[in-house]
Amino acid sequence: MTDDKSLAKIRQVLGRYWGFQDFLPQQKEAMLCAEESRDSIVVLPTGGGKSLCFQAPAVALAGMAIVVSPLISLMKDQVDSLRDCGVEAARLDSSQQPEDQQRVLSAIRNGGLKILYLAPERIVSEPFANLIRDVRISLIAVDEAHCVSMWGHDFRPEYRQLDILKKMFPNTGIHAYTATATEQVRNDIGRQLHLDNPESIVGSFDRPNLHFKIQRLTRRFEQIAEVLSRHRGESGIVYCIRRKDVDQMCSEMTARGFSVLPYHAGMENSERKNNQEAFAREEIDTIVATVAFGMGIDKSNVRYVVHAGMPKSLEHYQQESGRAGRDSLEAECCLFYSGRDYATWEFLLGDMESEPRKIAMRKLGHIWNYCTGVTCRHQAIVNYFGQQLQKENCAACDVCLGELDKMEDSLTVAQKILSCVIRLDQRFGAEYTTLVLVGSQKARIKKLGHDRLKTYGI
Ligand code: ADP
Repeated sequence: MTDDKSLAKIRQVLGRYWGFQDFLPQQKEAMLCAEESRDSIVVLPTGGGKSLCFQAPAVALAGMAIVVSPLISLMKDQVDSLRDCGVEAARLDSSQQPEDQQRVLSAIRNGGLKILYLAPERIVSEPFANLIRDVRISLIAVDEAHCVSMWGHDFRPEYRQLDILKKMFPNTGIHAYTATATEQVRNDIGRQLHLDNPESIVGSFDRPNLHFKIQRLTRRFEQIAEVLSRHRGESGIVYCIRRKDVDQMCSEMTARGFSVLPYHAGMENSERKNNQEAFAREEIDTIVATVAFGMGIDKSNVRYVVHAGMPKSLEHYQQESGRAGRDSLEAECCLFYSGRDYATWEFLLGDMESEPRKIAMRKLGHIWNYCTGVTCRHQAIVNYFGQQLQKENCAACDVCLGELDKMEDSLTVAQKILSCVIRLDQRFGAEYTTLVLVGSQKARIKKLGHDRLKTYGI
């Protein structure tokens, strides 16, 4: 089929099932790969319209498409919205009743499905392979494909089994989709899935409508409350590192009169679902959550995302902050960080010397440098993903807007601090070193003779 013919069919499907007249950036290229069974790796930012890149060709092509997805809730949302559009879609997962599973199995056998959602472990299972032996498979989409790579930010061992897909379906196009992948991760996805000379389609990582502000956390609740006050009556998300931080933050913000509810994996399913729905229906302004909140949440008018602690990687930050301003209107992303967050993540990653931990520690170092750095926040994010921002001043971050307090003669100050650290034989923490530098009269300093150091009181 020529490009024109393929496109005409897809355009027709887009209009008929979704009511869309045109493509979002990169969608056309991604859909053509799917339509023409050329393997592809597609990286589009959250809200970039990834799902349609495989859904529309799946409807246009003969046969049934298989979509591999990591979460039952994600599969459910996508299947529901496809059915609302009139597409014959279904999912097979362990949470279904036997009779529902049977219904889906007969639909597969009778050729009554255009799109089937599955968990990675099911698609590679023998019973499933037997079931679809005589079914025509139009394409295979691997959603959240960064989960395949150990270099990604959410490696899932069950995704590794997908390496046999190419052997199982040698004549079917396999397409990987993710919102967040560095070049290294993209290459790894291609390798792990044994993709055949895959087309790499990468959208812009920049979100110019997001205004980034990063500050050291000094007065935890006051700083967060200041942001919420700027956005009363608007939707927003506050991310905390741990569940107990979520609970504490919620009670503090409620006590200050803000309309907030919590969301984390330690809550009852029903309560979590109610809170998520209250947020989606705008009965509350702010959801306070761990990173358990977000995947598959399609709320376009989130006006602010606050990180009350440092995320564990720039990939996470890009994804979580990216939930703000999907409607392309201005939105604010405030990140508050402290050295304690670094230590918390280091602790949570455990102390084994495994490869995944080493990779995670490197990512932690990158986000720390991002927080403490003074490079344009937009530029730093896109650079991390291997792109360049084509402007000197983004006019949408604390660095470019000159909001950072710069220190006079910072080089000399840094030299004094390092010199003191060396003279203390690198054996003392930041607090003690500071006391020596400011010439404290504390008994311990005198007892250890540190009041006689050259850097005492400088
Ligand atoms: P992603 O999975 O990349 O986060 P989605 O597939 O959820 O993005 O799409 C984001 C939003 O954009 C959805 O509301 C979707 O309906 C809309 N969308 C996708 N493609 C188009 C298009 N071609 N024209 C208009 N809206 C689109």
